[in-house]
Amino acid sequence: MGFFIWVCLFLSLQAKPSLSDSAVLSTELKEIPKYFLSQTQKPDVFDWMVAIRRKLHENPELGFEEFETSRVIREQLDKLGIPYKYPVAITGILGFIGTGKPPFVALRADMDALPIQELVEWEHKSKVPGKMHACGHDAHVAMLLGAARILQEHKNKIKGTVVLVFQPGEEGCMGARKMIEAGALENVEAIFALHVNSELPVGQVSCRAGPLLAGSGFFQAVINGKGGHAAIPHHSVDPILAASNVIVSLQHIVSREADPLDSQVVTVGKFQGGGAFNVIPDSVTIGGTFRALLKSSFVRLRQRIEEVITSQAAVQRCTAAVDFFDNEKVNPPTVNDEKLHAFFSRVATDMLGSRNVKEAMPLTGSEDFAFYQEVIPGYFFFVGLKNETRGKTGGEHNPNFVVNEDVLPYGASLHASLAVRYLLEKDAITPLQEIIHHDEL
Ligand SMILES: [Zn+2]
Ligand SMILES: [Zn+2]
Repeated sequence: MGFFIWVCLFLSLQAKPSLSDSAVLSTELKEIPKYFLSQTQKPDVFDWMVAIRRKLHENPELGFEEFETSRVIREQLDKLGIPYKYPVAITGILGFIGTGKPPFVALRADMDALPIQELVEWEHKSKVPGKMHACGHDAHVAMLLGAARILQEHKNKIKGTVVLVFQPGEEGCMGARKMIEAGALENVEAIFALHVNSELPVGQVSCRAGPLLAGSGFFQAVINGKGGHAAIPHHSVDPILAASNVIVSLQHIVSREADPLDSQVVTVGKFQGGGAFNVIPDSVTIGGTFRALLKSSFVRLRQRIEEVITSQAAVQRCTAAVDFFDNEKVNPPTVNDEKLHAFFSRVATDMLGSRNVKEAMPLTGSEDFAFYQEVIPGYFFFVGLKNETRGKTGGEHNPNFVVNEDVLPYGASLHASLAVRYLLEKDAITPLQEIIHHDEL
C-alpha cells in the first residue's frame, strides 16, 4: 500500500464516518499494518533503529538517571520535527504526532537499564561497569522512535493525536505512576505498550485479554524480642524462633486460603538476625515479595501478610512492624482491556497472520504499565525476538541477554499500526471504561 491507499482512506473517512459499515474501507484498513512493516523493514529505517538501539545499549542508565538516553531521544525527535514536552518525571518525554487535537492515543516505551554486568562480548557491549540493558528497553526506545518516524511521515493522515510516552524507571521505580502524576495521560483515551520476549520467535506476538502480569509487592518486617544468653532462653524472648514460625505461617496463606485457580505467590527471600552461636538476638528482619493476578487477591494478600506476621510474632511474645514500601516498589496487576484485545488481535493478524498471533499465558512477573491501566484502558503485549539459528542466548534480566535486532521493524510497525488504526476505528472499539474528554492540547 502506498500513498494512493492513504488518499482513499482519507476520502472514505470524509464520506463515511461509520467504519463498521464500510467493507471497502475494512479492506484498506487491513493493509495498513503490512504497509508499515514494509516501511520499517526498509534498510534506511531499519539501520537507523539499529544504530539508536546500539548507542543506547553502550550507555545503559538506571531508573531516573536516563539523562543521556533522554537526550538521544530528543535529538531524534528534533530531527524528525516532532514536538515534545520535557522534562516529564525527571527524564521522561512526551512527543505528539498528528492534529494536536482529540482523540489522543498513547504508545509507551520504557528507557531504563538494570544493575547487571553484561557478559556478552560484542562490539556494542555496555561501556558502563555493572549496568546493562538486559530487559530490552534499548530496543523498546528504538522501536517507538521507528514508529514515530513513519507516523511523522504520514502525520497529515492521522485522525487525531498520537502521544509518544518515553518513560523512565520501569524496573522497580514506579516510573509509570510518576509519568501519570506529571500529566502523561491527559486527554488520552487508550494506551499501548510492548515488551520483547526471548521465548517467542521473531515475527510472532503473544497477548491475552484480562490479567496478563501479576501485581507485585514487597514487605519487610522487624520482629522484636529480647536478647540474652543462649543457654538461659527463659530469660529472653527469642525472635529467631518467632520469625521461623512467621515464615512457615506465611506459606499457609497461599496454600490454604487462596483459590488454587487464582495464582498467587508469597516468597520470603530475606532472613537476617543473630551473629553468634550462643546469643539470642534482640531482633530479626525478614523480607519478601508477594504476587497475585487479581487486584482483589493482591489487596487481600497484603492484608493477610501483615496479620500473620504480627499475630504469629505475638504467639512467641514478640512484636513486629511491617513495611510494604507503598511509595517505592508496588505494581498493580497488568490487566488488558478486552475490547482492546480484540482490536489488537485484528491488527496483529493483519500484519503477521493468525498463526503468528499467540495466546500468552499469565505470568507472575510484573510491569508498571499497570498504573496506566488503572487510569485508562490499556493493552500490553509481547513481541518475539528468538532466532535459534543465531544460537541460544540468555533471557531477560540475564547478563547473557541478547536482543535480536530483527525484532525492531515488527515492534515499530505494530506501534504505528495500533495508533493509526485505533484513531480510525475508535468508534467501533470503544474500550470498556468510560472515556472523559478534556480540552485540546
Ligand atoms: Zn525488566
Ligand atoms: Zn522490561
